[in-house]
Amino acid sequence: MSDLRDLYQEVILDHNKNPRNFRVIEDADRAKEGHNPLCGDNVTVYLKMKDGVIDDISFQGSGCAISKSSASLMTSALRGKSEADAEKVFDAFHRMVTGETLSDDDHALLGKLEVLEGVREFPARVKCASLAWHTTHAALAEIDEPVSTE
Ligand code: ZN
Repeated sequence: MSDLRDLYQEVILDHNKNPRNFRVIEDADRAKEGHNPLCGDNVTVYLKMKDGVIDDISFQGSGCAISKSSASLMTSALRGKSEADAEKVFDAFHRMVTGETLSDDDHALLGKLEVLEGVREFPARVKCASLAWHTTHAALAEIDEPVSTE
């Protein structure tokens, strides 16, 4: 598993060890669970909306370093964004981890999230990195079905 070491950059390790926004929002407007059975990652995302803007966002769950750090980085990136802007970041993130060529706009939207770009080399890890994002996307779209990467 030494290839994986290349993925575990300092930022990823830090977010895994000290995840940001790792808490429950008691009065959340939306809460959504997601699962990645392939790796055993579980996440619940909490959203507090205000005038179409993500006023607060947090997560809970257990999983590998990639899933946890991605959720942590995501909550930091999406707080204060409108739903429409959050969807733009979601799309850019998806393009990044699936190996598509990124535009200047994508780079601007992604910022710090680009530390996760390395997962594109590891298809199984793409699901780990995407889990929290798919879960948030489903929460924003108010999709009722359970979120699973399978
Ligand atoms: Zn995982």
